[in-house]
Formats: sequence, structure tokens, C-alpha cells
Amino acid sequence: MTEKNVWEVALEQFEIVAERLNLEPYIRERLKRPKRILTVNFPVRMDDGSIKFFEGYRVHHNVDRGPAKGGIRYHPSVSLDEVKALAMWMTWKCAVVNIPYGGAKGGVVCDPHKMSIGEIERLTRRYTTEISFFIGPEKDIPAPDVNTNPQIMAWIMDTYSMNMGYSIPQVVTGKPIEIGGSEGRVEATARGCLFTILKACNYLGLAIKNARVAIQGYGNAGYNLAKLIAREGAKVIAVSDSKGGIYNEDGLNPEIVMKHKVETGSVIDFPGGKNITNEELLKLNCDILVPAALEDQIHKDNADKIRAKIVAEAANGPTTPEADEILFRKGIFIIPDVLANAGGVTVSYFEWVQDLQSFFWTEEDVNQKLKEVMERSFDKVLEIFIKEKDINMRTAAYMLAIDRVARAVKLRGLYP
Ligand code: GLU
Repeated sequence: MTEKNVWEVALEQFEIVAERLNLEPYIRERLKRPKRILTVNFPVRMDDGSIKFFEGYRVHHNVDRGPAKGGIRYHPSVSLDEVKALAMWMTWKCAVVNIPYGGAKGGVVCDPHKMSIGEIERLTRRYTTEISFFIGPEKDIPAPDVNTNPQIMAWIMDTYSMNMGYSIPQVVTGKPIEIGGSEGRVEATARGCLFTILKACNYLGLAIKNARVAIQGYGNAGYNLAKLIAREGAKVIAVSDSKGGIYNEDGLNPEIVMKHKVETGSVIDFPGGKNITNEELLKLNCDILVPAALEDQIHKDNADKIRAKIVAEAANGPTTPEADEILFRKGIFIIPDVLANAGGVTVSYFEWVQDLQSFFWTEEDVNQKLKEVMERSFDKVLEIFIKEKDINMRTAAYMLAIDRVARAVKLRGLYP
């Protein structure tokens, strides 16, 4: 594992590109510092009558291009440094796909797998109330992330609306369709990732039909990507979750694997596959490797063993800078997180626009517009990658994003 923590990784990635873009010191300093950080400690009544305290965060990294935007995660390993990094990555992500948002992120240190639905609802409502002055449809719009889902977004929307006295669906995205959610939002991260993979295959001359795909993580992004990419004719030879993975050289059926996960709590011990570890999954002989779980999975100690031709980062921050170097030297094509998983926030933007207008689009419209945004963004990043010659796709994406944010900062000028 890397010795650097995830915030140091985010800063290092930024520095590499700031240097390359020759950013002036004031802009560099400004973009390194999160604009606002909120820490909250709050009590929740548990089912057994006891009261437990939880710590949560919401960070606005930058708001020069528009309101802050980013998900909320529930996980035992959430920390302020992690949320700061994720907020910075949201700034770059929104800029890569050119949607009018800055970057934010939120998190609560908790293990939702060990909590009841009622406890998760009370935690969500109290956390929302604690951060309610910090969020808002024109200020900061949360969304789902690791271990949060449309039901949790519905509670956030309801709690915020109750505090304000009227319904404000546009305060949060990733909601259920019935209360102002968008068609296509649930699959958006996966669908966006698929569009970038198809573009990469096209560029590299790799056929998607029968391409061998390994996916680490079987949450919203991992599962939906498995489903969508199998429909393109690719073979999903391995998938995993936090408990371990499964492998079948002939390909797994993503829906049946999901049924097994729902019934047993994990993908492991699937009758149609052989159990493997998460580490073994990363090192499989495959064409496309999709880290779709947490940060820091491909690091200096295992990067050399990666055998995929394409690494498509559905997760945020799965690859460390040292590993980036190694993969680059090995000629592995990376589709970086800020591009590969930007479909989620892109359809979040579409949801927000629909809510603001109270005018809703069809799923075909949403998917078509998503395709246009993802393909255009991929082409822009690829253009820089080809032109610069000695950089990977991450640095190319960051050059595009940081330049856009820096221009916004300069145009707005210094107040007062
Ligand atoms: N949590 C997702 C991400 O990391 C989506 C954020 C959003 O839709 O605002 O991109």
C-alpha cells in the first residue's frame, strides 16, 4: 500500500499538472485549498434505545464554475482527508465534462451494513439537518456515493424540505423518479463509463465482443457496468465485493450473480464461479479492468502485475500516482476516474435542470445527452493525450479540467 494518504495523493496529482500548465502561484494556492470545510458531530437514537454519536463532513472544494456538487458516502473508513480529496476530484470531474458546477463531497463515519433501516434513516435526517445551512439548490447539491442510494436521497430531500416549509427536490440528485429523480440516473455512472470504454476500444483497435472484463466492486457502478458491458457482447470473467471475488473464464451472468448477492450478502460462493481474492482479480489476465470500489487499490506493489489493456476507473481514486507511472510504462491505457465515472454527476446535472424547470425528459433523451457529453469529453482528453505525447490520460484530463477552473478563477478576479 502507498504511504501517502488520499489527500496527499490528490494534491500530488494536482501539482503535476499545475506545474505542466505553469499555473501562477496565486491560482495554484487557491485550487489546493478546499474553500469550506464543515465537521459535524451528532447523536442518533439506536434501535436498542441507546444514543450513539457520529461524525460527518461536508467539504466545498471550489465553487468558481457553479454550485458545489458531489455525493455523500457512509463508510467506516471515511475521514476528513478522504472527503477533501473526493471534493477536489469532483471539481476536476465537473470541469472535464464541462457542467456548471464546482466540487463538493460529504461523508459520515459509520457502517451502514451493521445498522437497521430505521437507524440509517435517523442518521440521514440528523446529518442533513446538521449540514442544512451549508447545502441548497443554488449552493451545494448532494447525491449518492458509496453505500448511499435513492431512498437515502429521498430522506435528504424530505428533511431539507421539512426544515424549509415546502418541497425542494432540486436540493439533492439521485432521488427516486417519483419525487423528482431523473430517468437513467441509477445506471448513469455505469453507462457513462461504458461510453468511454467503447471509445477507448475504438482508439486502441480492441473489439468489445468477447473482450474479457474484470470488475472490482459490485455496487451501483460495478453491477450496472457488468450488466451493460455484457449486453455489448463482452465477457465479464470476474467480479468482487468487499468479501472477495468470483471468476469464470467463460463469463458470468451479471443478473444471476446479483440475485446470489442479494440472497447471501456477497458475490462469493457463487455456484457458477471459482472464489478469488480482490487482489487476484486485479491481476487477472483480462482486456478491461474496472476498479469500481474504493481508493488506493492499484498501488506501487501490485501495479506491475496488472495485465489488462484498459483500466477504466469507475471508482474515485483507485490508482496511486506511483502506480500511474508503472501502468504508463507498461503501456496500459487508463480512463481516469474524473472522466470514466463522470456519467453519474452528468445525469445528476440533468436531474437538477429538470427539477428547476419541473419539466422531465424521457430515458432516451437522458441517455442520448449523456452519450454526447461523454464522447465529447473523451475526445477532448484524448486530443490532449495525443498532442502531449509523454503523459497519461489522467494528466490529459487534469490539464483540460484545471485549465477550465483556472480560467473561471481568473475571470472572476479577486474580491474585494
Ligand atoms: N458520487 C458520484 C461521484 O463521485 C456522483 C456525484 C453527483 O452526482 O453529484 O461522481
